[in-house]
Amino acid sequence: MQIKVIGVGDAFSEQYNSSSFVIKAGEFRLMVDCCERLRKALREARERGGNEILGQIDSILLTHLHGDHVGGLEAYAFYKFFVDRRKPHLYAATPVLSELWEGRLKAPMRQLYNADFSQLNLMTLEDYFEIHPLEPDRQEQVGPLQVEIFPARHHIPTFAARFSYAGRKLAYSADTTFDPALLDFLAPADLIIHEVGPGVHTPYEKLISLPPTLTQKMRLIHYGDDFDKTTSRIKPLEEGELLEV
Ligand SMILES: [Zn+2]
Repeated sequence: MQIKVIGVGDAFSEQYNSSSFVIKAGEFRLMVDCCERLRKALREARERGGNEILGQIDSILLTHLHGDHVGGLEAYAFYKFFVDRRKPHLYAATPVLSELWEGRLKAPMRQLYNADFSQLNLMTLEDYFEIHPLEPDRQEQVGPLQVEIFPARHHIPTFAARFSYAGRKLAYSADTTFDPALLDFLAPADLIIHEVGPGVHTPYEKLISLPPTLTQKMRLIHYGDDFDKTTSRIKPLEEGELLEV
């Protein structure tokens, strides 16, 4: 599988798009989280990387509902509805899905007048997306990918994920504190994308204390503007970068 990096920054970054990437397996594309100003971020990733992997993205997996991870979802859904006229697939753990409509999307998306404003339609989440609930400890089919999720430790329900395709595995920590149980879940992967940051996030010092068997296959995401990429002993992801797993 290939991974195209869209954003690498944390919620407060002035420099980076917020953390999001696209997984390509065959012709299938799954976007993991949906950063703000998504179409601008996709264009920038395409320009920086100089390739066309991004293409048509009809499937999204959400790790959690903080704005830096789902801020682009309303615009994405409206674009699919009005412009693409395709209903995208949305994958997330049940506790994430249960808050998505009421907590984030309903106010701007439920009421929808028709073109001549003669009729008010009341829309639902299912009018915009094909919904696919994910459960921990269960292997789920997401297109051609096998996906497993695992609860991370964060302010709100948040789920890490492992993606398997053609005998290869990618693991993503999502937003989390340093958590040995989560690292055990991530460890079998060929590539681990792990968040790094202060406060409730995972300190850099904790990550570099991990054994080289883990750090050598780890890349960092969700870093702040003050994170020193030049001295980092674990390689940070870069926006637009294309990885092969
Ligand atoms: Zn978060």
